[in-house]
Amino acid sequence: MQQVVDEGGPAATDFEGADHATINAASSDEAGRGRVSQNLLRVVKFAVSLGFWCLSEARRILVRLSGRVPPPIATVIYYHQVLPHERQRFARQLDHLCKWAKPIPADLYGLVPCATPYVSVTFDDGWSSFAEIAFPELRERKIPVTLFVVAGRLGRRLEPFTDEPLITAAQLEWLAASGVTIGSHTLTHCLLPTVDEATALYELRESRRVLSGMLEREVTLFAFPFGQSDSRLIPLCSDAGYQRVFTGLPHLAFSRPGEFETGRIRVDPSDWPLEFYLKLMGAYRWLPAAIALKSRLRRATRRVIGRFDR
Ligand SMILES: [Zn+2]
Repeated sequence: MQQVVDEGGPAATDFEGADHATINAASSDEAGRGRVSQNLLRVVKFAVSLGFWCLSEARRILVRLSGRVPPPIATVIYYHQVLPHERQRFARQLDHLCKWAKPIPADLYGLVPCATPYVSVTFDDGWSSFAEIAFPELRERKIPVTLFVVAGRLGRRLEPFTDEPLITAAQLEWLAASGVTIGSHTLTHCLLPTVDEATALYELRESRRVLSGMLEREVTLFAFPFGQSDSRLIPLCSDAGYQRVFTGLPHLAFSRPGEFETGRIRVDPSDWPLEFYLKLMGAYRWLPAAIALKSRLRRATRRVIGRFDR
């Protein structure tokens, strides 16, 4: 079954998930309506997550009172671009992150201990603003970071309508030498659930081969473009040699021994401080169940309508 990502972020300026709808809207009216519904959805998700977090914190307190240790909380967050005017907000988010949680690398293969919340920071696509704006802020705070790059688009634009190019091969090599973990984000940034198996396997294998050759080290991590995966693609990632893949569903991370498929939550520099906090604390982890329920209801509705149409 295809996992459709229901992004937790605000109406954004990049190209993942629902943002395509906004960009491709046929008229400014449609785009305006799209923005309103995205903002409304953001508020609803925020409110539900706040309620979810209150309940889960109450439960953790009860567990502690009973003399037991509550389960650990670890999340993986993913950014895209950090624009020049967003630098201060981004820096503030990183300061908050260091205060509220312990930053850990995304290629951690053991289980996290219980005490502190843990957060792993990742970036998708490899925009040049990562090298110029985001990485200096991360490095200053010694926060480990993983960058998922589109191996066949280095130094080029991801889409014809984008102004900002992706990092060049030279920047990629410099980032890797400076301690950034590099993962693959396919060769062409294609929507993998929509392509045939041979094409998907080629995107997975070839991007890993290109990046591993360029960096002279094994690339073992992969993140799905648009956060979209399906059950057919996960074994293909394993066949292509990856040791861990990241989806766009906000499950808690590093919570199962031998975890191969790890969830992530999208964040943006424009996130409200409390919204950012809730994302770090895993309070959006109710979303995958809600998305699955929505798909089941939609399928059931279609079946009922189909019966009436016959
Ligand atoms: Zn992407």
